[in-house]
Amino acid sequence: MTASTLDPYALSRDGLADLVAELGEPTYRARQIHAWLVRGVDDPAEMTDLPTGLRERLSERFAPSRPELIGHTVADDGHTHKLLLRFPDGEAIETVLMLYPRRATVCISTQAGCAMGCPFCATGQAGFRRQLTAGEVVRQVVVADAALRSGVIDDQALPAGAPDHVTNVVYMGMGEPLANLPATLASVRWLHDPDGFDLSARGITVSTVGLVPGIRKLEQLGLPVTLAVSLHASTDELRDHLVPINRTHPLAELEATMRDYRRTTNRRVSIEWCLIGDVNDDDEQADRLGAIAARLRAHVNVIPMNPTPGVTWKEPTQARMRAFIERVRRRGAEATLRDTRGRDADAACGQLLASYTLGGGTRLPAAVGAADRVDALQLGDPPRGAGA
Ligand code: SF4
Repeated sequence: MTASTLDPYALSRDGLADLVAELGEPTYRARQIHAWLVRGVDDPAEMTDLPTGLRERLSERFAPSRPELIGHTVADDGHTHKLLLRFPDGEAIETVLMLYPRRATVCISTQAGCAMGCPFCATGQAGFRRQLTAGEVVRQVVVADAALRSGVIDDQALPAGAPDHVTNVVYMGMGEPLANLPATLASVRWLHDPDGFDLSARGITVSTVGLVPGIRKLEQLGLPVTLAVSLHASTDELRDHLVPINRTHPLAELEATMRDYRRTTNRRVSIEWCLIGDVNDDDEQADRLGAIAARLRAHVNVIPMNPTPGVTWKEPTQARMRAFIERVRRRGAEATLRDTRGRDADAACGQLLASYTLGGGTRLPAAVGAADRVDALQLGDPPRGAGA
């Protein structure tokens, strides 16, 4: 892409209006172009309601960063589709489409790889390679939406009764969305645009490991987007290692920020908890988690750890999972065991890409060796930090 060319999906509505003004066209042309983009059409030659001259000039200005589908894994009887998408520069990311009776949720990536280095996560082991642009984030949803509208994905028919459009978007794929704030905020605005893609703000969930400044910015967006915080540990002692960014933004600061977000947006915050056997599934962690969630009136989603290449940790037994959730509830919090969509086809979080390319990217210095440090922790010792 040269300085004068643009990926059309990276343009906001205002950006599109500026472009058509620069080309000497009336403002309503921006609406027409935007409507094509919403339908998944980015080639001006196919924008048949535009004059030929404008289509030609747009072709000179647009340099679409069109992803190529290079991997497709189907699981859960056709209700989960994990897509490996490669952008023109060769960078690959994954996007997951999950179908429910009245809901079609797309789980999207915001970075190629991730620098956060959570030691239980396949993407974290791969390291960070580059930020995605707003257009590359939006495109993942548009690709899934076009598939739903056509009823076919990669030549495979979608199950009968699947919704015909995307209803929910979760920023829970590869990368930390709030470490790529410009693309995350711009894509939320693009997807929510009532005159465009028109996705309800309540249908959008942004997940984070706890980047406090990013949560504050999301709060200022003025949209009731759901915030999901991946807590995974309820003491600073353990969280410093399981989620290395905790060393910069410890639990007390994070909890205060979550409380402010709920007050400002009037949206219940979610807490995500990847449950790892003999690491964060003990009674003390459950009690402290339950207390934090009760104070925040947050909902806790417990997710059994996915098997991850190169990581020896595993999910706890079914009995231990039930006991953990019961203990969290006893503290007055709502907690549920989340389904692990896609497990039966090597399609759990981070794994399709992990088998494609593992390692090579950069990670937070604090993340290096984190797994070994967790294994070395005396988990029964009194915690040092805030927590409950
Ligand atoms: S869990 Fe999320 S933030 Fe942590 S390494 Fe994986 S992708 Fe990054």
